[in-house]
Amino acid sequence: MTAPLLNVRSVETYYGNIRALSGVDVEVHRGEIVSLIGANGAGKSTLMMTICGSPQARTGSVVFEGQDITRLPTHEIARLRIAQSPEGRRIFPRMTVLENLQMGASLDNLKHFKEDVEKVFALFPRLKERQTQRGGTLSGGEQQMLSIGRALMARPKLLLLDEPSLGLAPLIVKGIFDAIKKLNKQEGLTVFLVEQNAFGALKLSDRAYVLVNGRVTMSGSGKDLLANPEVRAAYLEGG
Ligand code: ATP
Repeated sequence: MTAPLLNVRSVETYYGNIRALSGVDVEVHRGEIVSLIGANGAGKSTLMMTICGSPQARTGSVVFEGQDITRLPTHEIARLRIAQSPEGRRIFPRMTVLENLQMGASLDNLKHFKEDVEKVFALFPRLKERQTQRGGTLSGGEQQMLSIGRALMARPKLLLLDEPSLGLAPLIVKGIFDAIKKLNKQEGLTVFLVEQNAFGALKLSDRAYVLVNGRVTMSGSGKDLLANPEVRAAYLEGG
């Protein structure tokens, strides 16, 4: 088996004295969509942020393309083409859609800016229609598209998505998840997705991990976890 693109080993992350992750192991291979599901406060965002280097893991390691990135500063991790659509989207509200996309492109990528923007617009035609509009005036779904689009401008090798479905209507969520699937199928983009929407995430994913109180308690194919009675009881039924 080939080495994983991302290899998280025995990671422990703290906020002061509070341990948010307790020995987490996660692997993401090239071309996969892998998701991390779990309840509010389980530590999902913390894992995503630890991969990006802020906060850094106190123990354990994060290895990307064979390179240990555990202690790298965030901007150097971004330079390795790990791009993130963070929790809460974090778009720039006063900047236009086009300017927001520009912020996602590294200096190296400015030479193919037009081409990359057209790709984002092809994926999310709504952003093309609204390209001169300020980010803050977009709907929640459009802001999510913009946050993903901005991450794509970095031409990522690994795209990290933190709760893209949060607060969005089911039809909009379907559009976002369809776009992620399309990127993966057509471009071979590798995606690591953090979601409270377990059903949507598991349906979309090749593999998934369940995080409970900072520990991985289960992992398997998206299909198997969808059918797993414990997962169904905790995350899929009545939720
Ligand atoms: P959510 O879906 O609510 O974002 P999550 O699974 O992403 O949940 P985290 O946000 O990673 O969970 O939080 C994990 C734990 O770490 C929680 O107990 C949370 O209260 C704590 N925590 C998160 N951020 C901080 C912080 N900046 N300072 C102190 N504790 C924090």
